[in-house]
Amino acid sequence: MVNTNKGERTMTQEAGRKRKRRNKSRKTETTSTHAASLTVKQSPSTSTVFKSSSKPASFLEKMKAKLSGGHFRMINEKLYTCSGDEALNYFKEDPSLFNMYHTGYQEQMSRWPEQPVNIIMKWLKDHNSSLVVADFGCGDARLAKGVKNKVFSIDLVATDPSVIACDMSKTPLDSSSIDVAVFCLSLMGTDFPSFIKEAHRVLKQNGWLLIAEVRSRFDPNNGGADPDSFSKAVCSLGFTSVSKDFSNKMFILLYFKKKPNNNSGKEIKWPELKPCLYKRR
Ligand code: SAH
Repeated sequence: MVNTNKGERTMTQEAGRKRKRRNKSRKTETTSTHAASLTVKQSPSTSTVFKSSSKPASFLEKMKAKLSGGHFRMINEKLYTCSGDEALNYFKEDPSLFNMYHTGYQEQMSRWPEQPVNIIMKWLKDHNSSLVVADFGCGDARLAKGVKNKVFSIDLVATDPSVIACDMSKTPLDSSSIDVAVFCLSLMGTDFPSFIKEAHRVLKQNGWLLIAEVRSRFDPNNGGADPDSFSKAVCSLGFTSVSKDFSNKMFILLYFKKKPNNNSGKEIKWPELKPCLYKRR
């Protein structure tokens, strides 16, 4: 249809717009999902846009997707801007918010080319399955389900009877009882150093600390923390940095080992970790 009315697009204009849209979407990750399109705010200047390729079937579905996307972003922001203790109370007051959060979280993850939890799973499979693991901020306990190891899954809410529900700065785990402590996209609370301190307490000597975090939180050019200052702070707590993996577009991976001796007890300067916010397109 050619429409030359003022304020409306001609076919040529429309074709140009479509071409632009097509080119744009080639540069983005696409998946077939019914949630509203969301943007992972990587940094003020470089946001990675994830666009849904299939449209919600009906108006009602579209509205539902918008609403759940909005709820997810709200809960996500809350978790990044409060302490672990506050987050625990937040979900205690309304545990249904946890499922809402995880529906949105899984939506986001399904658009990532690679999920960090799978890399950690592979790392565990490449090591001895007798290693005892603590998964700090386990979500739906995917890690425990995917490996042979004994895994203590910890999160604010137990979606599965195997999950220990607590604030991960105060777990019921015994001191020096764990071989591998995992934080997979879970250093969310403003008191994140206390989560790592807790991991240090429960880890055995020479135990592993594996941290996967959103890349933009460690991009100093865009308001993120300097990965070296973060690593230095973790080491001051009583760890040795073993390796760093910056090869993934969406997340970084840091591998540490607990030092046999205790830390010096000196005050540690932690860099601030900015929230990873997801904004609506
Ligand atoms: N590790 C999982 C889930 C990541 S989402 C995965 O990679 O799939 C981050 C999780 O950390 C959420 O489930 C959130 O509830 C949890 N979390 C955040 N702060 C926490 C805290 N203080 N104590 C326990 N869990 C926490």
